[in-house]
Amino acid sequence: MIRFENVTKKYPNGENAVKNIDLNIKDGEFFVFIGPSGCGKTTTLKMINRLIPLTTGTIYIDEKRISDYNIHELRWNIGYVLQQIALFPHMTIEENIAIVPELIRWDKDKIHDRITELLNSVGLDAESYRNRKPSELSGGEQQRVGVVRALAADPEIILMDEPFSALDPISRQKLQQDMIVLQRRIKKTIVFVTHDMQEALMLGDRICIMKDGEVVQCDTPNEILQNPANEFVQNFLESGNVNKHLLSSKFTVHDMVEQGYFEAGQVDGDADFADRIAVEIVLQQLANQHAVSIESDGKAVGTITQQHVIQFLAKQLERDGERV
Ligand code: ADP
Ligand code: MG
Repeated sequence: MIRFENVTKKYPNGENAVKNIDLNIKDGEFFVFIGPSGCGKTTTLKMINRLIPLTTGTIYIDEKRISDYNIHELRWNIGYVLQQIALFPHMTIEENIAIVPELIRWDKDKIHDRITELLNSVGLDAESYRNRKPSELSGGEQQRVGVVRALAADPEIILMDEPFSALDPISRQKLQQDMIVLQRRIKKTIVFVTHDMQEALMLGDRICIMKDGEVVQCDTPNEILQNPANEFVQNFLESGNVNKHLLSSKFTVHDMVEQGYFEAGQVDGDADFADRIAVEIVLQQLANQHAVSIESDGKAVGTITQQHVIQFLAKQLERDGERV
């Protein structure tokens, strides 16, 4: 879907922000760029929708060079969410969301219905929110509107640059959870930038770790937890309190299901956690709620409580003995 071929970016001041990046972001993938401040994440993201020109190399979307797209067509088909979302303060929530759909001339009814659907889907009651001004919303609610605005015209790709990093921990966790569910439903390609390892592990189908403009490791959360490519990755995991020696980050929801540590049962809607999610992440969520729903092989199968996790981990300790 999005392919980087030997992409570099050198700013006019000589700063080599991105060096020889080759990547293939798949259709429908939740792809996360992570790395310390200044490693080139934002630059990489902004090259995708041509907010920043490449110095050398090529980026393809659906095998067509981004430079061959009409710039408006390209931007309209790529949603963009920033850390501090810039909603227009004098416009209502509805007007803010309608900007791109109006540009591409959707009819009024279609826009109205789309806004209703999207606001409701991120937990904002459409009828009570659509006519408010941004100042009448909390930071977390504004950020939800930012996500809705990026999705409004039904783009195939959504770029998100540290979208939740300015939020308080509770709003942030809630939005992360909602993002997982939302992505499961809309199945768009999401390219997400963060400097928070927990967030990356929770959201990413794959995580691309960057350092000084280069890709250090690009893999699934589990593979990164279990086989960090080098000391830099290891330190990065540790700085996020994600310790690969920690038992709970070695195992996933899949392992718990396989060994029967869950309560089978009906789940309404999509499950909270997919198979590949580390038990560590589930455990964190269980600090805030009694039970979480889980899926196995793409199907919601039941729930996990803290009790299940404790019993499961105790079993692994017993089983692995000295190896742990
Ligand atoms: P990140 O998003 O990972 O924090 P950036 O992509 O913003 O990193 O920046 C990568 C590097 O490029 C940094 O060293 C930064 O100082 C530099 N940089 C970013 N934007 C510009 C610019 N417009 N001109 C010159 N240097 C820049
Ligand atoms: Mg940045």
